[in-house]
Amino acid sequence: MSELQLHTPIEYVKGIGAERASLLKTHFDIRVCEDLLNYFPFRYIDKSRIYTLSQIGLSAAEIQLKGKIISLQEIAQGKKKRLVGTFEDETGTLELVWFNVTNWLIKSIPLNEEVLIFGKVASFNNKWNMAHPEIEKLSEARMGQTSLEPVYSNSEKLQKRGINQRFFKKVIREALHSIENQIEENLSQKILTDYKLISRKKAYQEIHFPTHYQGLQQAEYRLKFEEMFFFQLGFGLQKIHRQNTTPGHPFSKVGKNFNEFYQYHLPFELTNAQKRVIKEIRKDLRRNTQMNRLLQGDVGSGKTMVALLCILLAIDNGFQACMIAPTEILATQHFNTIEEFLGGMDVSVRLLTGSTPASERKFIHAELESGTLNILIGTHAVLEEKVQFQSLGLAIIDEQHRFGVAQRSKLWKKNTVPPHILVMTATPIPRTLAMSFYSDLDISVIDELPAGRKEIKTVHKTDAHRLSVFNFLKNEIQKGRQVYIVYPLIEESETMDYKDLMDGYESVVRAFPMPEYQVSIVHGRMKTADKDFEMQRFAKNQTQIMVATTVIEVGVNVPNATVMVVESAEKFGLSQLHQLRGRVGRGAEQSYCILMTKSELSNEAKKRISTLCETNDGFRISEVDLELRGPGNLLGTQQSGVIDFKKTDLAHDKAIISLSKSAINVLLQEDPKLQSAENKEIKKFFLAHHRNTFDWAKIS
Ligand code: ADP
Ligand code: MG
Repeated sequence: MSELQLHTPIEYVKGIGAERASLLKTHFDIRVCEDLLNYFPFRYIDKSRIYTLSQIGLSAAEIQLKGKIISLQEIAQGKKKRLVGTFEDETGTLELVWFNVTNWLIKSIPLNEEVLIFGKVASFNNKWNMAHPEIEKLSEARMGQTSLEPVYSNSEKLQKRGINQRFFKKVIREALHSIENQIEENLSQKILTDYKLISRKKAYQEIHFPTHYQGLQQAEYRLKFEEMFFFQLGFGLQKIHRQNTTPGHPFSKVGKNFNEFYQYHLPFELTNAQKRVIKEIRKDLRRNTQMNRLLQGDVGSGKTMVALLCILLAIDNGFQACMIAPTEILATQHFNTIEEFLGGMDVSVRLLTGSTPASERKFIHAELESGTLNILIGTHAVLEEKVQFQSLGLAIIDEQHRFGVAQRSKLWKKNTVPPHILVMTATPIPRTLAMSFYSDLDISVIDELPAGRKEIKTVHKTDAHRLSVFNFLKNEIQKGRQVYIVYPLIEESETMDYKDLMDGYESVVRAFPMPEYQVSIVHGRMKTADKDFEMQRFAKNQTQIMVATTVIEVGVNVPNATVMVVESAEKFGLSQLHQLRGRVGRGAEQSYCILMTKSELSNEAKKRISTLCETNDGFRISEVDLELRGPGNLLGTQQSGVIDFKKTDLAHDKAIISLSKSAINVLLQEDPKLQSAENKEIKKFFLAHHRNTFDWAKIS
């Protein structure tokens, strides 16, 4: 079969045939030989060891036994049929069970013949049994050749059509044998040497048929490295391209507004981290290429002030600036904060959201176009095409993960020369993720909280402790503090959640009666004006308790609030809880976060709650979040399409991601257009497989 090529349709592989080829196509998207080789085992089993039945009580893992199946019997149970067999070795017997009985299944089970069976032993009615064992005739088994058997993901349905583990091994071996010499290297010799990578061909051999454990490890390392290398290379090229070709407005001077603000209006000393980040940004802004920077900082680290200082730089250089937030509440909050900071200065700010009245909107549009308006703060409304600036020099996006790349690019088009872009994350993203997913951006990190902040004390309480929790709240309110009580709202439309919220509100009002206590409530079904009114009452300390849904999750700032109670905390994700907690601890007083849950919790929920109780460090929390939920949630749904990696596990392969990233940095520094002969394999492979992540025409 040496005529097979990488792109030969799989039906030509011996043993597949047209029917199974079409099944593989529909179920696994395996079309050509190359796809087959890229269908990697999802786990391996160690079949080097054969157990005896006398030992099986010791192990709950999947094990291998050698013996004979001595009987097979169909048992009807109502409409359902089961197939039950007896397996025997020298030391005892074991029951084998199959559900979904078919003739094909019955025929495929060898009776009274030496076999190896493999599976998980369970105990039922004081008897050992094994469900759906893998069976291999001893005469066919490749004894002693290798200890690691690949296992390919498969379905019951396909097994009945003859697509089983043995089939996969056979056809992949077949395909590999005839085309392994066509598996070309796609990395340079330098990278192979520098990073101690085995060849691509060797990696494919070892990943499917490991000769030993180390071989498998090397293969996995090689294939993951390659996967992340090519994924990140597109971003790297993009960045170089942008830096070379996208002009920016140089903000060459630090002028009157910045200086005046810095000297007379800055309400506090900047933290060292804030100072450092501002320096990094200023360096970018001075150049005549566009800035595209991600600002990462934990909740409460003071990103808004950094944003404002950048805005003032833009104004000093004759440009307008805008700042976009994902929710109306947050945009309003930013507007209020910035307006207050700028009090007494000759700088104009306006707010534009979905609920800005048409007449005001018109006015804002006119001011923007004439250039009389310096700063526009708002929601998605700012992105609309009819919002045109006279000279937009800087666009800031708060809470990056709620906006997609598409929205970022809308901002680019707001000026003939694209504005400088600063995106700020709400919650930190683990470094490796940020590095690879935002690697078209430069990254700045605020890794320090303003001085004098006390650690927020976080505790976990079950509903049984509600009385003592309420007493604690009363105590805090007595001291003049304010309290948030937050209810989960999974879906805006979920009636159940609203009922919980309203029930909760009523019980809070009963426990904290007027006139001694004033209780506010804010949720997504309220009119914006009513929400604002309640938020303002709370902000002015006219109410002591704010009962709310997660609409207050992002960005709200009431420094006198010292307690955050989260109801049904088990229903929230880690970073969401961390965000919520960040609403307190903003003043000088000791603050608290109380996570209320029911008493029975899943392991994952327990881990979330205990992580929160242990640490206030957002970067650390995001690492745990990544492990628990994978990257999709951290990066936002827009990105989840690109994180479907074949081999790499973003939560656990951080070292490999960093290594491949540094390989790219070195490569692109030396050969930014991949023109040297040494790198031609890289270029060729990139063009063949990743063309769509980057428009090569831009570069060559
Ligand atoms: P985030 O990074 O979460 O957006 P904010 O910008 O809302 O944080 O800042 C949180 C609070 O800390 C605000 O009340 C802000 O005025 C205050 N703040 C920011 N920087 C400092 C600083 N250097 N010293 C003291 N307080 C600060
Ligand atoms: Mg913020």
